[in-house]
Amino acid sequence: MRLIIHRGARQIGGSCIELGCGPTRLIFDAGLPLEADAPGAAEPLPVPGLFAPHAAHEPPVGAFFLSHAHGDHSGLAPHIRTDVPIYLSKGTSQMMLAGACFTGQFALPQKRETILAEGQTLELPPFRILPLRVDHSAYGALAFLIEAEGRRVLYTGDLRAHGQKPGMLRALKHAAARGPLDLLITEGTLLGSGRSAGRSEAELADFAAETMRRARGLVLASFSAQHLDRFVTFYKAARRAGRVLVADNYLEFVLHLLRRDVPSLPRIGTGEGEIRLLTCVGQKVAGHGSDARLAGHRAAGAGVDAEELRARPARYAMLFRPRMIETVFGGRLPPHTTCLYGYWNGYLSKPDWAEARNALEAVGGALVEAHTSGHIFAEDLRALISDLNPRRLVPVHTNKPEAFLELHPGAMLLPDGEPLDF
Ligand SMILES: [Zn+2]
Repeated sequence: MRLIIHRGARQIGGSCIELGCGPTRLIFDAGLPLEADAPGAAEPLPVPGLFAPHAAHEPPVGAFFLSHAHGDHSGLAPHIRTDVPIYLSKGTSQMMLAGACFTGQFALPQKRETILAEGQTLELPPFRILPLRVDHSAYGALAFLIEAEGRRVLYTGDLRAHGQKPGMLRALKHAAARGPLDLLITEGTLLGSGRSAGRSEAELADFAAETMRRARGLVLASFSAQHLDRFVTFYKAARRAGRVLVADNYLEFVLHLLRRDVPSLPRIGTGEGEIRLLTCVGQKVAGHGSDARLAGHRAAGAGVDAEELRARPARYAMLFRPRMIETVFGGRLPPHTTCLYGYWNGYLSKPDWAEARNALEAVGGALVEAHTSGHIFAEDLRALISDLNPRRLVPVHTNKPEAFLELHPGAMLLPDGEPLDF
């Protein structure tokens, strides 16, 4: 088998990984670099047969596999040649659709997608590919266990061990342990960052509940609607604090898409444990039958507008984005509003969040960081690698690949574009 990291050996984001064997090649992820605005950064990579026609002497690309919907893994997918099949989980397909409707994320035509059956091996001779669910900050994320000609490879994609679904990691280890693992390709986003282990998603729920309980006025909760576990964290926290969570159209659409597969998700309504829907003009609407559904929620009395939020602020915890200061509150937040900030804190230096902070301070409110990473902590990564005990370990999605050399004797640094035959 042959491995080529086309991009991502020494950077976080922009991942693109190739495994070749005999007459075919498979590609895993085709992302945009995090600094996608830099000149040329958004251009397709020179991967033969993926974006441009393949050279006569190269085997063709037999399939493309997308690990999850984040742009640093999926951003170049729309450029993939139309004769290359695209495999992804149903959850990733749904998150891509929601992202395209609400965040301007490019759309992947659904007719080009092939949904992977969970827990079922896909046969693409000489390859056998087993998709395995992993816990990450995008719903539907997958790892892939790939076998060909007696070799076994695990590509983990992005994952973590401190989320709400520890069973996923156990299942991953169990599947990998069915035979010797020749190669592990895994992420090291937090490795060498000097950051110690942070809190678990469950500890974050405790912290958020306590903060919401103590808050005097309205609570705003800022998080990605594609991070389903974070929604559940804030939903549980709000319930424990005696508040009702208010969703916007984006979160409503995500919950609608996932309803059939995750029936335990809270519904929009006025009953016990149900969440409300923000009704304000200027929100995007997804299409796909949304108008009728949203009208139904409003008719059922589940809508909450700015007037209601101002009248009874202590009743609610509302999903928030900075532009809502204008679109929902007309430029001035209710008095003593607390904002729970559920993203990586690097975004806080961006202008929209600097302005949001000012708007909170102007009404005697505060911004409280309420986040834990979607990526595996260094300690957990060490334990995972030790459990998997691969023959070879190739890092990706990391600024500090050297740090892997201390984690496992099989670790090796494979520069972008250089093939490894094994
Ligand atoms: Zn990711």
